[in-house]
Amino acid sequence: MNMKKLGFGTMRLPRLDPDDPATIDLEQFKKMADMFMERGFCYYDTAYPYHQEHSEDAVKEAVVKRFPRDSFLLADKMPILRVTKTEDYRMYFDEQLRRCGVDYFDYYLLHNLGRDRYINTEKFGGFPFIEKLKKEGYVRNIGFSFHDDAQTLDRILTDHPEVDFVQLQINYLDWESIAIESGRCYETAKRHGKPVTVMEPVKGGALVKLPDAAIALFNDFYGSSGETYHTPASLAIRYAASLDNVQMVLSGMSSIDQLDNNTAVMKEFMPLSEAEKKLVADITQILNSTETIPCTSCRYCMEVCPKNINIPEYFGLFNMHAVTGNKSNMYYERFSMNHGKASECIKCGLCEKNCPQHIHIRENLEKFATLYEQEG
Ligand code: SF4
Ligand code: SF4
Repeated sequence: MNMKKLGFGTMRLPRLDPDDPATIDLEQFKKMADMFMERGFCYYDTAYPYHQEHSEDAVKEAVVKRFPRDSFLLADKMPILRVTKTEDYRMYFDEQLRRCGVDYFDYYLLHNLGRDRYINTEKFGGFPFIEKLKKEGYVRNIGFSFHDDAQTLDRILTDHPEVDFVQLQINYLDWESIAIESGRCYETAKRHGKPVTVMEPVKGGALVKLPDAAIALFNDFYGSSGETYHTPASLAIRYAASLDNVQMVLSGMSSIDQLDNNTAVMKEFMPLSEAEKKLVADITQILNSTETIPCTSCRYCMEVCPKNINIPEYFGLFNMHAVTGNKSNMYYERFSMNHGKASECIKCGLCEKNCPQHIHIRENLEKFATLYEQEG
């Protein structure tokens, strides 16, 4: 099977109700899957908690039931956060096979490993479990997705040379980041001989809507190229795909337009030229001088928030203000309609334990509340 370097991430599928992640627009997803396959792509990535546990089922409806099993590759992830005893692994895995309607996964990962979660995963036997699945033929390649520092990654890969690959957050803004360590994690995986699947290449959309100064640079550079597929998003995806040890770049696509653009640019993939690398460095400099919250909208914080605060949407509004100077009280009203307001945070800190980006959520919610609730 061909392995073009673009995978369809299914954590941001189109929705019927924009405020409700559970309402996946299945008909739209089917059209997107058709276009994806027609253009020669085949890799889908899902996980247990995505879309409030509806992503796996949507993949079954839009992909598994509609295409021969050997025409696509499917990756799924064990929700290690929910595992509290060894037997849970089997229970979740069987449920995932059922939800997806398959009898094997091509890629299977322990989801969202980091220093603390590694301790529990070792305690309950997560790695022997996935290794056994591979021996039994239920999965073809085993790995883990990872959100922590390079030192922890080095330790896990030293302890577990049996894994086939790792999934890392890599994008040009996080490459040198002290909190994310994209670059150091990539080099660590490479040193251990493990191919990398990239998640968050556009940093949850932050590299799609660039500040005006960065857009001006971008337009100057590509203005006369005549290629319509040159967009900030495609630049970010090509940046990740240009790394030689990267086997796959996942993009969480939400619309036909995004899919059209991503597949157009990745069909005949061209690595970044030296001039494009310089453009990326210049854009990075501009972004680093803009004070934004590095939220990727993964929504893991919301799974544990006792006040049901709509954290990612509020941070999106905060970032929009930082980049453009514009506020939208109408959006705040809408986003907080069925959720806690930012000022209702009780500072329990549960969300921060779940945040892969290590964001000081409480502190930033306070800033947001000052901006939207006190300043009006
Ligand atoms: S600290 Fe605030 S936002 Fe975070 S989980 Fe607690 S109540 Fe929710
Ligand atoms: S604050 Fe952190 S956990 Fe919550 S959506 Fe953003 S990146 Fe994800």
